[in-house]
Amino acid sequence: MLTRFAPAPTGYLHLGHVANALHVWGEARARGGRVLLRLEDHDRDRCRPEYEGALLDDLDWLGFVPDLYPISAFRAGSCAARQSDRHDIYAAAAAALLAQGLLYACRCSRAHLSCQQERRRVSFSAKKTPDVFLVGELPYPGTCRDLGLAMDIPDVGWRVRLPPDTVTFHDRWCGPQVQTPVDQCGDMLIRDRRGNWTYQLVVTVDDHLQGVTDVIRGIDLLASTGRQVLLGRLIGRPSPAEFAHHALIMKSPTQKLSKSDGDTGVRDLRAAGWTRQRVMDACRMMTHTPESPLP
Ligand code: GLU
Repeated sequence: MLTRFAPAPTGYLHLGHVANALHVWGEARARGGRVLLRLEDHDRDRCRPEYEGALLDDLDWLGFVPDLYPISAFRAGSCAARQSDRHDIYAAAAAALLAQGLLYACRCSRAHLSCQQERRRVSFSAKKTPDVFLVGELPYPGTCRDLGLAMDIPDVGWRVRLPPDTVTFHDRWCGPQVQTPVDQCGDMLIRDRRGNWTYQLVVTVDDHLQGVTDVIRGIDLLASTGRQVLLGRLIGRPSPAEFAHHALIMKSPTQKLSKSDGDTGVRDLRAAGWTRQRVMDACRMMTHTPESPLP
């Protein structure tokens, strides 16, 4: 069993990450598995090196020790589990999709798309998923699908033609799930118009090539799982990982904690004199994370 802790260095580590880490390390330790640390800094516009350093310091202080890619490996420089150091790997995955005739260039901007599209509810039967995480997605309407735009001109994104497949999986916590990615998001963007690889591509490639068997993460990512399973198939993953999506610490009934809003940063709590134990206990109380995690 190999799971992963995969924060994005777009802000300081907050209590939501600590809750996720408790689930990830708890499950790995309970099942004799291992934890891989991955830094998801694929978005060059939002990630900053100082956040990466702070994140590594906070993880160290909290005592979460990865089995694969020690914290010192990230501090030493280039590292195989830092996404910004994996450009060639994502480019190779994109080339394989292109060779299958599945990629096309798209010049639609986000602003253009939101004018064109009506916000509509996605339809899939995630009965235990709070509605707040399932609404407001904008399926791509296929505007550029058949235009045959060149892939290598400036200012175009790359999209994958998704087959209309329905994906079913059993989430260890949320139960049976049925998702039809093409209805949820339409053809998937894998590289944006600024040349950033998207989260959906990099996480799918990394979970596959790094041999991740169990993905344990917050329920806000449940709606992304079907498309990651489907994209995984298209890039050659023989069978998907197991998934477990857990409850989040919310700051209001509809808002999750956010690094970029500076919510409840571990480093602020440290500066205010909190001990490591107090931080962990606060997370356990707020998320009902059991002492030995996962029921
Ligand atoms: N990088 C994502 C985050 O920081 C987590 C992605 C995942 O677990 O799939 O929220």
